[in-house]
Amino acid sequence: MKKITKLEIYDKFKCSADQCPFTCCEDWEIEIDLDTYTRWEGNNKISTNLSETVKMNKSKHKSERYIKMNSKKLCPYLSSNQLCTLVLNQGEDYIPLTCRTFPRVINTTDELQELSLSCACPEVVDMFRDIDKAVKFLDGSNTVVPIDSSETELRHAIISLLQKKGYSLRNRILLCFQILLEIRLAPVNQKEILEKYEQEQYLQKVEELWKYSFDKQTTELWKNTFTEVSELFLDIVQNYRRRRKYKEKLKDIADLAEELLEDQEEDSIINYATEYATQFQFSFEQYDKLFEHCLVTKVFANCCSDNVDDTIMAFQIMITEYVMTKYSAFLKYKLSDNSADLYRIFRDYIVVYSRIIEYNMEGMKEFWAESFEEANWEMGYLLLLLG
Ligand code: SF4
Repeated sequence: MKKITKLEIYDKFKCSADQCPFTCCEDWEIEIDLDTYTRWEGNNKISTNLSETVKMNKSKHKSERYIKMNSKKLCPYLSSNQLCTLVLNQGEDYIPLTCRTFPRVINTTDELQELSLSCACPEVVDMFRDIDKAVKFLDGSNTVVPIDSSETELRHAIISLLQKKGYSLRNRILLCFQILLEIRLAPVNQKEILEKYEQEQYLQKVEELWKYSFDKQTTELWKNTFTEVSELFLDIVQNYRRRRKYKEKLKDIADLAEELLEDQEEDSIINYATEYATQFQFSFEQYDKLFEHCLVTKVFANCCSDNVDDTIMAFQIMITEYVMTKYSAFLKYKLSDNSADLYRIFRDYIVVYSRIIEYNMEGMKEFWAESFEEANWEMGYLLLLLG
């Protein structure tokens, strides 16, 4: 029997179905697994209109089937009151495995089964909001277990650092990235490097150095960070800002970002950059715990091997989501005259970026390779993004 490790909230998850503000039945490629497709073919009520509901992708070596979204990019089986007509009329067995599984993330090896949840679902983020201690992992009999194994030492170190008490989330992220870069430079010394980052004295020394550099920040440096993050944001959202599903979340803030970038010599960008780096930084800190849970869960689900290059790439993706969420929430909050429900704004952007960045790993790799000649960041770039 496989050894199970699962996120503490894994078994408690329940889809909010028609109450969900982010239905997963819109604007997504939903693959139809062969078992489900065979069931569809054998069911008269479904098989009569397969040409309208199924899109085939055939290549030399394989053929894949996807749900054909309608002209509004909605699943043809979604009813006007946001319920799945396949489930209502035929039963759960008739929905593709992807729909039955999401937002659960299941990683399986010969001996292990790791069960997690994706932050691309708002219900999951809401569940994380209610956890005020470090997120825990359980075994099959619901006993708290450590998640380390000889193949995932690196993941264990990253999660321990992310959950370390007494350090700001920004500094914990920097520590994680620094450890990854050091191991990449000297993989044979991984064991010694991991041990070094377990020593409180060493962590404090590194933190002191960053504190010195962050304390010296000026409005010019804040403007540099704001400009870089704005440009990155516009690149990432360019294909999404006008799409029905994301328009309400992205269009107005993308327009504002463009306006601010055009006015480089004006006071407005300096004012925005200063507020983003100072007052908003403090408002944002109340969600550090929530972000910590999201990051820990993403590391647990996406960094399952000790391959340092893969881990760096997965980590860059997570940090890009974090920075984009913070920046987008800031602009949205400003556009609401600082009156909107800040938690809802944060939650919605965590979901949006989990969908458009985390599920687009290959696209992000290409984007960074084009922007920096090499897909991996340097420490200076992370410092600039975090500001
Ligand atoms: S995003 Fe989550 S809550 Fe919403 S429909 Fe999908 S699984 Fe259900």
